[in-house]
Amino acid sequence: MNAIVLKRGKDKAAKHRHPWIFSGAIHELIGCPANGETIEVLDSNKEFLGLAAYSPYSQIRARFWTFKKEHIDKDFFTNRINYAIQKRNEFRNSSTDTAWRLVHGESDLMPGLIVDQYDDVLALQFLSSGVELHREIIIKSLQEITGIINIFERSDVDVRKLEGLDERKGLISGIVPEEMTIVEGNLKFIVNIPIGHKTGFYLDQRDNRKLISKFYKGRDILNVFAYTGGFSVYAAFHQANAITSLDSSADALEIAKRNMNLNGFNPSSYEWMIEDAFKSLRKMRDINRKFDVVILDPPKFASTQSQVERASRGYKDINLLGFKLLNPGGILITFSCSGGISDSLFQKIVSDAALDSGVSASIMQKLTQGPDHPIGLNFPEGSYLKGLVCKRD
Ligand code: SAH
Repeated sequence: MNAIVLKRGKDKAAKHRHPWIFSGAIHELIGCPANGETIEVLDSNKEFLGLAAYSPYSQIRARFWTFKKEHIDKDFFTNRINYAIQKRNEFRNSSTDTAWRLVHGESDLMPGLIVDQYDDVLALQFLSSGVELHREIIIKSLQEITGIINIFERSDVDVRKLEGLDERKGLISGIVPEEMTIVEGNLKFIVNIPIGHKTGFYLDQRDNRKLISKFYKGRDILNVFAYTGGFSVYAAFHQANAITSLDSSADALEIAKRNMNLNGFNPSSYEWMIEDAFKSLRKMRDINRKFDVVILDPPKFASTQSQVERASRGYKDINLLGFKLLNPGGILITFSCSGGISDSLFQKIVSDAALDSGVSASIMQKLTQGPDHPIGLNFPEGSYLKGLVCKRD
């Protein structure tokens, strides 16, 4: 079998079962494996460490499948997928929620594979050359395990370039409507799998949507980066006094309005702003507008380490403005989904923003991604969504 031998002293991460092997850790490549092919990983003494998918174009040159000798075949994926579904089952509220992530890549020991269930539809992403090579058997396993045949692929993501793969999007099997409705708790949401963000909806925010709904009653809410109105619809349901939803995408806000309607709320009772958040928050500050609750859930500002500095300035800017728009006693709920921004850096940015805005505030609660987006203990990179609930004095 083809193999890679790691450099002396560079096998620590692998021995701690981190799933990634960077090109700089490799001493020698034995053989000529194709993109995605399974290889053996050996330590500097040529002792077996595990089996990995080889990825010749990426800085992440290989991703571990397993740390024992076994076949990477259909049974392997069937076992892994079954386990992934089973391990999160007790965290799932299946009586009220019809959408749920079934497989979350590295943290479910299937590097690069994302499987989201939206009712009777699966939305898939193949983000590494390893899962790409095994695409057919993974799809078969998923169909057999879940009994779901309506499958759509959303591998139209930049990161595939790093793996030497083209983007791909389209129907895999069955029937997938352009638009469908999912249920989350007491509420319904329109999800557009073929063109929505990620695979259609921000499933990772589900528990946060529920958790922060206790702050809405009788309050004035500003939901910045509202997308299809997840937080706004919860705010309406929990009897907020007024809700302003802001997003630069007119299409997203159009669906947000329809989501209000779908849940029995009249969208014209609320304020909708199709604007750039950076400009709009400034304008609202200048006219001294105030809110009781401000939610900031921006897109990923930093995809890579090199973007961290610019991203930090972006986060600082919106958080500073967010604090300025808060009434005394108000609550800022602020998120970052940038993997490159650590928990502690995000906390520092928000703390600097509060200082510069001239308000004092405390972190009352920390938020993270839901349990269907688990974080492998050996894969800290899996922890990407950070949220702070800050109360202004
Ligand atoms: N809070 C949402 C998800 C937000 S996704 C939820 O829970 O479903 C990020 C959103 O930010 C997208 O809808 C995108 O259109 C919007 N966005 C990106 N850049 C923006 C900008 N500069 N100003 C306003 N909105 C922006």
